[in-house]
Amino acid sequence: MDLGIAGRTALVTAASRGLGRGCAEALAAAGVGLTLNARGKEALEDTAAAIREAHGVEVRTVAADITSPEGRAQVLDAAGAVDILVTNAGGPPPGKWSDWDREDFIRALDANMLTPIALMQACLPGMMERRWGRVVNITSGSVKAPIAQLGLSNTARTGLTGFVAGTARQVAGAGVTINNLLPGIHDTDRADALDRAVSLKEGLTIEEARARRAATIPARRYGTAAEFGAACAFLCSRYAGFIVGQNILLDGGAINATL
Ligand code: NAP
Repeated sequence: MDLGIAGRTALVTAASRGLGRGCAEALAAAGVGLTLNARGKEALEDTAAAIREAHGVEVRTVAADITSPEGRAQVLDAAGAVDILVTNAGGPPPGKWSDWDREDFIRALDANMLTPIALMQACLPGMMERRWGRVVNITSGSVKAPIAQLGLSNTARTGLTGFVAGTARQVAGAGVTINNLLPGIHDTDRADALDRAVSLKEGLTIEEARARRAATIPARRYGTAAEFGAACAFLCSRYAGFIVGQNILLDGGAINATL
């Protein structure tokens, strides 16, 4: 399917691995030029080279921490005029509700709420002026159903969801859509790290921890970054202009809810 966005430009943050990379690859396959960001330079350059080779699009890279004001300034400067913004950052660490102090909450809010908000505030005016834009925020299924050990994530991402709900309706008239993609369990380094933590805590092998988690998903498997990226690219396509302010769950049916 031709998504109708060839020649557009996208900024995808936190994109050297995992879900961010999946989104970058799917956009590149649709002919979109990219600015990609991550902290680690080597993995970022490897990803950019692989995407250039596979899809022949221009890929700029900025190795920086997207959760810092300086990092964001560098990334936005390199990206120039952005048609498509995909926001992503690493998720907060797991723990117990009673463990976290103010600084832990501030770090989580900075990474998973205030950073995507700042990126939207920077990119939305240009999109509105040009009368076309797409924003996809990578959040989490924890917005619909809280994950006990990820209280920092539950908290920060719900705040972002509220901001998007109000803002998406204010920019839609200018041809700009904002939507959130909510991953359930996907096969990435992040999922691997969570499985490792469970295997250590409960004396299981990683395979056992993973099989136990996969068994909780009606699809009986983890999602892939490629599937996630394809959903993101569709939300960024010319056909998705009437999808506004939605929270779309990709979780293999894991959250047992009618709506
Ligand atoms: P991942 O495989 O660990 O990849 C994270 C990517 O983000 C890497 O490219 C990493 O590169 C980059 N990154 C992390 N922190 C960054 C920062 N401060 N500045 C710039 N780049 C940064 O993670 P993932 O599984 O794709 O998850 C992506 C997001 O979805 C996370 O917020 C995660 O919590 C959420 N999520 C994931 C799942 C899942 O099952 N995978 C489920 C629900 C929610 P560097 O380390 O080099 O910076």
